[in-house]
Amino acid sequence: MYPAPFEYHRPGSVEDAIALLTTYEDDAKLLAGGHSLIPLLKLRFAQPKHLIDVRHIASLSGVREVDGAIVIGATTTHATLERSPLLRQMLPILPEAASQIGDAQVRNMGTIGGSLAHADPSADLPAVMLAVGAEMTAVGPRGARTIRAEEFFVDLLTTALASDEVLTEIRILVPAVGTGGAYEKYPHPASRYALVGVAAVVTLAGDAMQRAQIAVTGIGSTPSRAREVERALAGRPADAETIAAASSHVADGIEVRGDLTGPAEWRGAVAREHAARAITRAVQRARGEWATGARSA
Ligand SMILES: Cc1cc2nc3c(=O)[nH]c(=O)nc-3n(C[C@H](O)[C@H](O)[C@H](O)COP(=O)(O)OP(=O)(O)OC[C@H]3O[C@@H](n4cnc5c(N)ncnc54)[C@H](O)[C@@H]3O)c2cc1C
Repeated sequence: MYPAPFEYHRPGSVEDAIALLTTYEDDAKLLAGGHSLIPLLKLRFAQPKHLIDVRHIASLSGVREVDGAIVIGATTTHATLERSPLLRQMLPILPEAASQIGDAQVRNMGTIGGSLAHADPSADLPAVMLAVGAEMTAVGPRGARTIRAEEFFVDLLTTALASDEVLTEIRILVPAVGTGGAYEKYPHPASRYALVGVAAVVTLAGDAMQRAQIAVTGIGSTPSRAREVERALAGRPADAETIAAASSHVADGIEVRGDLTGPAEWRGAVAREHAARAITRAVQRARGEWATGARSA
């Protein structure tokens, strides 16, 4: 099916994009890589009269280090995340997850900002954002505000962004020494979306896990932190027994989805296995056994 007719806008700045959002209000939608929005337009699930293309706003793209944080522009593509030397050294969990998104075309067109703003319950990057403790910058007519990842993902396809706000960048603190991260995914065989995805970031103090941030995607209506797993890891030895016991809690508090790909019990079991794998590799990276950089998550 063809999309309903719309007017296409290509603003040159974030301010111009916000002005267009303010003018057209509910009749407007931002467009980035189009790999989630265009299918919705073609199915006519969304029929905005104005599409505001932010992909050509130069200030919204790129990965850089600023004052102890890694700052990623919202229109940075998955392919750029995958190849970024800075991320590969400092935050390899992110290129690792980005490299598993869809196929080459999806990664060349899709953007981190589009993925986070769309908030698909089976998307990969939201779980990584939760595990690394990212902060999102949203800019609108009332100025800029910071939204922590934990507050950003509200519900199925719903975020804390207001309809007149542009997600401009994602900020992640450079991980502390002794931190490692890993992403483990069970992809849908056709789309490659996560039937289950687990992101784990662990900071070691000697042989113990001082801190662990674990997030899961694909199993519930929204990505979420696995708090019970985190509690079961914190302060405990970083060994296989502890990791296996903690991972058994990965679906605690989540209404696990079942669908044609498998029942909820199966998804829960896959999540437990993938949590154990992700935490194990995160620990290895924290120890420098599986690292691409001295300080890496
Ligand atoms: C075949 C296929 C396979 C895929 N496989 C995967 C997969 O394995 N894992 C995965 O995670 N994803 C997957 N995706 C989704 C892909 O990652 C999308 O590119 C992504 O979800 C949306 O990014 P986009 O840049 O294309 O956004 P768009 O489609 O352009 O926009 C999506 C939504 O975000 C809003 N938006 C975009 N940018 C901004 C911004 N800066 N500020 C505020 N709102 C904004 C738009 O208004 C729209 O509502 C797949 C997609 C396809 C088509």
